[in-house]
Amino acid sequence: MTIVQEDDSPRQGKPPPATRGATCTHATVECLNAYELIRKYRCITCKAIMMCECDREFGTRFLSHQLDRGSELKTQKRMRVTLGFRPNICRECRGLPAEPAPHDEGYGSTSKVKRYYWRELWFETWRREADWNDAHPDASDDERAAARDQIESEVLQSIKDLHATSPKYVFSEPSQAEVLERYRVEVTNLKAPYVIAPQRGAVIATPDGAVSPEAFATEHFEKMGWWVMPLESQPFHALFGVMMWSLIQDFNDPLLKMVGFAEKNAVDAGVKSGLVNSFLPDDFGSEGYAERRKRAINKHFAEIAHHIEDTEDLLWLFDHWRSYSEDFRQYLWAHRSKDVDRARRLVELLRPQVLLTILRG
Ligand SMILES: [Zn+2]
Ligand SMILES: [Zn+2]
Repeated sequence: MTIVQEDDSPRQGKPPPATRGATCTHATVECLNAYELIRKYRCITCKAIMMCECDREFGTRFLSHQLDRGSELKTQKRMRVTLGFRPNICRECRGLPAEPAPHDEGYGSTSKVKRYYWRELWFETWRREADWNDAHPDASDDERAAARDQIESEVLQSIKDLHATSPKYVFSEPSQAEVLERYRVEVTNLKAPYVIAPQRGAVIATPDGAVSPEAFATEHFEKMGWWVMPLESQPFHALFGVMMWSLIQDFNDPLLKMVGFAEKNAVDAGVKSGLVNSFLPDDFGSEGYAERRKRAINKHFAEIAHHIEDTEDLLWLFDHWRSYSEDFRQYLWAHRSKDVDRARRLVELLRPQVLLTILRG
């Protein structure tokens, strides 16, 4: 895909932005960023940037400040909307199936309906809530909060019903079973009786009382003489944070910007958090980052490769980078010492080549 950056300077032979594209039918457009609420589209032929008429009502009512610019997902470049709203621009208005843009299974929503239909949920909830507020100008705060809760659950239910009868998106991610199959993960089936009244995750009955499935599995392997380390994703985020901070926060990167985010130890403790000021590239996490920084990435891995002959050497590097990576790990929610300790254990236990593959992942 060719990226054409819009700029406002008049050039010879190029019509000014207001008239550019006026005669074009915009037969083929690409969406700049499917994660924006009011999406912007670029015409492949005339390069004009526009929005779809079907978003006009919602956009002008609720998001008027988001209508003149969009940011391209791949590069995070800000681009000016040159044509405003035009009819039949989005895929649905053109009679094409909507393309899914699911959100990651992060700290917010884990349900697939919420991750795939986030935009529909936003739109419908905002609209109904604003209508309710307009109709009840004298409502108290409690009444408004109750109405909001009710609207949220009604909208979620209506989207669930819609998905069950005529799904707009196909949930196309690999299932857990497919992931296990693809990476040939060895699975050990353990059988255990359930307790009648489970409490706080303790659902399995043992002679010593109710325990969680994790504790049950741990005990099973420990009895066989294994040393067991339960893992979720955070230790891997910590591993990434420690081993990659110097690449991501490289001061030679021209797109590096100062960013501020909440101090996560305070968030954990449930107290008012201060702001961490740190540096991240503008396009961090986007598809374009790996492409743009290909040389720097290869150089970074070549540097790590110097240390992988010897686990002691690699652990030295890990310990050396641990404190330097603090800010970046805060950003990744990989700030907890216990997760960093488990990441260090992974460095001790895994073959260096496996580690590199995980980091490159
Ligand atoms: Zn066009
Ligand atoms: Zn449309």
